Amino acid sequence: MRGGLQVVNPASEAVIAELELAAPEEVDLAIGRAAAAWPAWREVAPGDRARLLRRFAEAVDQDRDQLARLEVDNAGHTIRNARAEAGNVRDVLLYYSAAPERLLGHQIPVGGGVDLTFREPLGVVGVIVPWNFPMAIAGWGMAPALAAGNTVVLKPAGLTPLTALRLGELARVAGLPAGTLEVVVGTGAEAGWRLVTHPAVRKICFTGSTEVGKRVMAGCAEQVKRVTLELGGKSANIVFADADVEGAAAAAPSAVFDNAGQDCCARSRILVQASVFERFMAGLEPAVRRIRVGDPGQEATEMGPLISAAHRARVAAYLGAGTPVAFRGAAPEGPGFWLPPTVLAPVAPDAPAFQEEIFGPVVTVVPFRDEADAVRIANDTPYGLSGSIWTRDIGRALRVARAVQSGNLSVNSNSSVRYWTPFGGFKQSGIGRELGPDALEAFTDVKNVFIATDG
Ligand code: NAD
Repeated sequence: MRGGLQVVNPASEAVIAELELAAPEEVDLAIGRAAAAWPAWREVAPGDRARLLRRFAEAVDQDRDQLARLEVDNAGHTIRNARAEAGNVRDVLLYYSAAPERLLGHQIPVGGGVDLTFREPLGVVGVIVPWNFPMAIAGWGMAPALAAGNTVVLKPAGLTPLTALRLGELARVAGLPAGTLEVVVGTGAEAGWRLVTHPAVRKICFTGSTEVGKRVMAGCAEQVKRVTLELGGKSANIVFADADVEGAAAAAPSAVFDNAGQDCCARSRILVQASVFERFMAGLEPAVRRIRVGDPGQEATEMGPLISAAHRARVAAYLGAGTPVAFRGAAPEGPGFWLPPTVLAPVAPDAPAFQEEIFGPVVTVVPFRDEADAVRIANDTPYGLSGSIWTRDIGRALRVARAVQSGNLSVNSNSSVRYWTPFGGFKQSGIGRELGPDALEAFTDVKNVFIATDG
């Protein structure tokens, strides 16, 4: 008998659900159902597949409040973020609902015949999701996978399975055939690894830590299984002296403390040109102290708890005695896995807090001399996911955006994710792209067909 799973509300520490963890044999059954559903699903006419995905989007939209509430209770997301995330699942489904009718191939000039290419679906796709954005990231994987004609086995993180289970129900409500979207709740080591090793699973779309991502990639290599990896980050927020320094300082907290810093895109290293360092810190301090940390179900709340006691302890380990805390925000007392937003400065460039992905509400601030120095520091990391550049010099903005080795950069803004633009990492932040037009490529293989026309 497999152990049960207690699902905990991180803001209250109350147990909100008890579930059975799927054993590897049950994962095999789910994969079997998805494999059995695939031949019919890939044959659904493009217009009908599009219509079913639009219905799925509509079911998500009608369930937005409940989905948002589940994410507040299970993941500690603020209600405003959770509503936006439910809306994001709807929007991603709608965006990719346009894909079945637009999965175009080429007709390539050849001698003696006609040459055509087709974008063929892969089969069963395993979508493995982390706990930090359980609902949104499930949508980013499953929507393009389904649109391209694959069936999906979705594995949420053990800490946060509730919205994935609800999405599985909504798919059925919308009329997606049985087996098209299977949801399995299990551990990474068992259920996740079974998806990686099962030969009927033809692709893994993994989002999570770089450490586990490397193992998943190695496992996929055994079967030359297609794999997309969205991994960790340690992104830089670069503020030049010629920028709107006060604006950059006011915007910096939400760029790192949103979702309590549990965001792969968190700008957790702030690099400030030395000549405006004091000015920037003077603007940052009141902005950090003002952050409303507390009950994520309240409309006004801006930051909730961390996901678990174990994760809070991991983050707090970066804040031991001797840590150079410049200033802190507030956090509630009592039950819940709370930690105040914390700013560290001055920090040595080789300090673990400056080098490692903390994945919590901790940011480091360091000065830089000039453009070359800023680019050097920004690139001095194995990661390359996102980042921001604040400057009024358009030439510099473009030079630095091209020089920073990262997949998603924003200039005079901290916004890096839109469902219609590509998202993914350089270096050890990942392989492949999600969202936007590029994601579909990762869920199809190109087939070339030559037809002889000569007598
Ligand atoms: P994690 O790597 O521990 O787990 C991610 C998922 O993988 C979970 O569902 C887990 O059960 C599963 N898993 C664990 N071991 C496995 C194995 N051996 N085989 C198959 N699956 C396995 O990550 P986490 O702690 O849930 O999430 C935090 C990490 O995710 C951070 O590093 C963060 O940066 C990253 N992340 C990246 C992105 C991105 O798009 N780049 C987005 C969100 C989170």
